[in-house]
Amino acid sequence: MSVASQILDIRASLPAGVELVAVSKFHPAEAILEAYDTGQRIFGESRVQELKLKAQSLPKDIEWHMIGHLQTNKVRTIAPFVSLVQSVDSQRLIECINSEAARCDRVIDCLLEVHVSSDESKSGWEIDALRDYLASGALSALKNVRIRGIMGMATYTDDTSVIRADFEALAALKRELEPMFDADFNILSMGMSDDYPIAVECGSTMVRVGSRIFGERTY
Ligand SMILES: *Cc1c(COP(=O)(O)O)cnc(C)c1O
Repeated sequence: MSVASQILDIRASLPAGVELVAVSKFHPAEAILEAYDTGQRIFGESRVQELKLKAQSLPKDIEWHMIGHLQTNKVRTIAPFVSLVQSVDSQRLIECINSEAARCDRVIDCLLEVHVSSDESKSGWEIDALRDYLASGALSALKNVRIRGIMGMATYTDDTSVIRADFEALAALKRELEPMFDADFNILSMGMSDDYPIAVECGSTMVRVGSRIFGERTY
């Protein structure tokens, strides 16, 4: 199926209030434009240089989300235009985003990436470390970042009960943290090509779908 028909099918299947991030990493501008022409405006990328080049050459009303691991020395490259950094996984990174956002006179929306899966390799805050950081109050000094919610991934497995438990843990954490923030803390980003229907059942408000739209990636 074409990019356009895939994306229209997926959007039609999502309940109202669930946003679709089209994960276009490793796919060329033409594929992004095909999705764009269906009305898609939110795209996710995982590498800073690729994100920058695509943002320069593609329509200016695209909202670019950074979803991959972000090194502090690369923040400056995307700070002027990124619309949501979904992969904020350390105090050092959040402080860096805050200062780079201040340099370009912006407030940058961020999600706290949380590690709940049993996969060793996945990045993100451990839940207890995140609780400790938030309890420290350090975040209140950062005026140029706005925490919009949390992002996470389920364990890479065929066992849907494990996947569901991971998504439920993320949803529970979002509810636990809500009282520490204002009403802008309203994004629960979870669900990818293979598991987004389960994520939606567990309360996802934002799914990040790549290969199901654009086909397999060749790295
Ligand atoms: C690549 C990626 C996705 C999309 O993965 P697909 O399985 O291709 O849908 C979603 N979220 C993150 C953080 C990713 O790195």
